[in-house]
Amino acid sequence: MSIDFQVSPSAHPRSQAERDAILANPGFGTHFTDHMVAIDWTQADGWHDAQVRAYGPLSLSPASAVLHYAQEIFEGLKAFRHADGSIWSFRPEANGARMQHSARRLALPELPVETFVESIRQLVSIDKDWVPSGGEASLYLRPFMIANEDFLGVRAAQRAAYYVIASPAGAYFKGGVKPVSIWLSRDYSRAGKGGTGSAKCGGNYASSLLPQQQAMANGCAQVLFLDSQEGRYIEELGGMNVFLVQRDGSVITPELSGSILEGITRLSVIQLLRDRGVSVTERRIDVQEWIDGMRSGDIVETFACGTAASISPIGVLKGTDFSVGNADAEPGELTMSIRKELTDIQYGRSEDRHGWLTKLA
Ligand SMILES: *Cc1c(COP(=O)(O)O)cnc(C)c1O
Repeated sequence: MSIDFQVSPSAHPRSQAERDAILANPGFGTHFTDHMVAIDWTQADGWHDAQVRAYGPLSLSPASAVLHYAQEIFEGLKAFRHADGSIWSFRPEANGARMQHSARRLALPELPVETFVESIRQLVSIDKDWVPSGGEASLYLRPFMIANEDFLGVRAAQRAAYYVIASPAGAYFKGGVKPVSIWLSRDYSRAGKGGTGSAKCGGNYASSLLPQQQAMANGCAQVLFLDSQEGRYIEELGGMNVFLVQRDGSVITPELSGSILEGITRLSVIQLLRDRGVSVTERRIDVQEWIDGMRSGDIVETFACGTAASISPIGVLKGTDFSVGNADAEPGELTMSIRKELTDIQYGRSEDRHGWLTKLA
């Protein structure tokens, strides 16, 4: 029961020269391709009117539920250009399934996974010249869904829309992978028990922005959040999951607590490590274990992972009254080798033995 997309090419696509200028230095999230996908949903008619059309502003009633009650979810995945010019995405059906999970929590309609994958295929097909080649560049895809019923009563909206936009992305680490510093937030939580932490929704990000500002003010790139009940156990960064490598070579990562977002990079890293015979344990991790382990040498490497940066080594963990690690340390060996293994699969430089890649164009 796949849906048909009506394709209306943009009347004003950027010229090749304009596109080349952008692709020479794309940055992250600032430039957008010529087209977008839009699909409407109403309670009465379900998903309908799927379009590929020119990228441009939405027309939205000021009374739209999303603007008042934050009924919104999103996804993030990438399209990678391989050496032969073909374009692939990494586990897109997992993003589609996660979006359904998020939709259930936010009382939004579930988009069929098949339609999700088809929507990114449609967009990448028409905007394939926007997929950079070389290095660690990619086309970042941002599917999202909003409640756009114009009604101020508080209940799940009966009208919603799904969109996909795309933005060329340069290598996350320009001039080589460097360890980042992480700020331990003790004042704020990202998510609580029974909350929306395991859903990918804008609201989680809105509440992380103030602690993120504090992280930056303290010279850190990202915030580390602890569990909201005891303020003891590591959850995740604002948008990345974390892993710790122990002295004996085994790896630990916070178990999914209900308030952690289950990253597809996290899942893939666990699989790749286990394929190598590395022991990976998902369990509660007291932040004091991390701090003490950094001091004693029981923790030998730490890294964060997510679609945007793939894998980032963590050099320093600091809080109001302590700082452990070394900002100038070399990235860890396991961190870098698992990073290479993952990116080699994504860019088609090594065998995709788990069938994680889907050809888009
Ligand atoms: C998206 C996201 C991640 C990473 O998920 P990936 O699927 O690996 O990109 C981790 N934490 C949060 C809060 C996120 O929103």
